[in-house]
Amino acid sequence: MPLSRLTPVIGSARVAAAERELFALRSRLDGREVWHVSDTAARGGVAEALREELPYFRGAGIDTRWATLAAPAPFRRFTKALYYQLCGVRTGEDGLWPEIERGRLLYERVCRASADWLIAAAADRAGIVVVHDHQAAGLVPPLREAGFTVLWRAHIGAPLHPQQAEPAWEFLYRYLAYAHGCIASYPGALPRGLPPLPGPYIVAPSINPLAAKNIPLRAPAERVRDVVGPLPPHTPLITQVGRWDAVKDVPGVIRAFADHVDPAFGARLLLVGPSTEGDPQAAEVYERCCRVRSELGRLRARVHVLRLPVADAREHALTVNAIQRCSAFVVQKSLAEGFGMTVSEAAWKGRAVIASPVGGLRRQVAHGRSGLLLAGPDDLAGLGAAADRLLADPAYAAELGREGRERVRRHFLIDTGVRDLARVLARTAPT
Ligand code: UDP
Repeated sequence: MPLSRLTPVIGSARVAAAERELFALRSRLDGREVWHVSDTAARGGVAEALREELPYFRGAGIDTRWATLAAPAPFRRFTKALYYQLCGVRTGEDGLWPEIERGRLLYERVCRASADWLIAAAADRAGIVVVHDHQAAGLVPPLREAGFTVLWRAHIGAPLHPQQAEPAWEFLYRYLAYAHGCIASYPGALPRGLPPLPGPYIVAPSINPLAAKNIPLRAPAERVRDVVGPLPPHTPLITQVGRWDAVKDVPGVIRAFADHVDPAFGARLLLVGPSTEGDPQAAEVYERCCRVRSELGRLRARVHVLRLPVADAREHALTVNAIQRCSAFVVQKSLAEGFGMTVSEAAWKGRAVIASPVGGLRRQVAHGRSGLLLAGPDDLAGLGAAADRLLADPAYAAELGREGRERVRRHFLIDTGVRDLARVLARTAPT
């Protein structure tokens, strides 16, 4: 994908600035490969980011490859429990692996096998490997030992309760200490109080305005009707989009809607996530969300818990796009959040956002200018009050949405992400 496709959206000066970094990286690499390793290509923010960023590197002639872990179910269970602990939140599921250390052997075995696969698949060992998030962190030592330049990119953010998260971060740092550099989404994203990691370099996540997820749509309301069913005319939609993960706190959103949003507005709540097929942890969280909904009484007819099929990635993205576009505003009530691309996606569509004041959400939402931040991640009454305010005053919501779109244009579009990543790769590439 050539960056010049973005010229109509961001202008030629920004395109040229990002191209300069890509060309500098290409000459620095001199034909060597850049590999990315992540947990999955199927769902979530990391997959979304890689799917959108990497074609621009390839478009600039940089030999870029993406591999995912061959992860058996127990590995997924372990890394999910580790994730909750890294986020410093209690989810009721932590008991699965009461001691992180018990999972170490399994974790290292899977990471070692994936590292061996990559060592065999790579043209040589002189390239760069970027391993993403906690799932792939265990590849750092074996890949470094094999001769690669290894960077770790963190998409997760600072924990909600740092002390609670400490053992999990200590677990991770043992592998990360071998990295040539670390990449974080914003300054302060990695917890303090641990030995400093090399870098950390900052690369903000970004969204692609040309992706099916973000392009303008001709008839978004029809798509929404297809998945939600018929709605009374002018029904305001309140939406949260995300993986089925306890950290996204969908039950909290449902309770805030039921207990604190004025029913007189006639709003509907849409809780949107991917299909849970082949993902038992996500299925459990989804079931729990359905249970909370089913306990609502009459109000449950106004709450839609939706799993969207993922088999056709483009169709899926277009549907999420349509839902975000047709929403009165969008919510992201996460308990912890590395970045939260759903916020930039909604803002780019001119939607106001109500978000918890955590991690990357706090960095994206300028309170009172591009959206509203809650007093804390458990501020259910605050969520209700913020929702009522936007439902009562759509002109205010539109004003927040306009400013949100401009903030995304300035800080969170894909040319910026590509430019900054290219700069870090060039800086750390071996000579
Ligand atoms: N997403 C999606 N379909 C869904 C739920 C989420 O395409 O059913 C996308 C969402 O639009 C966003 C990404 O997955 O692009 C989630 O990224 P975010 O940074 O918000 O959260 P993460 O998954 O990294 O925790």
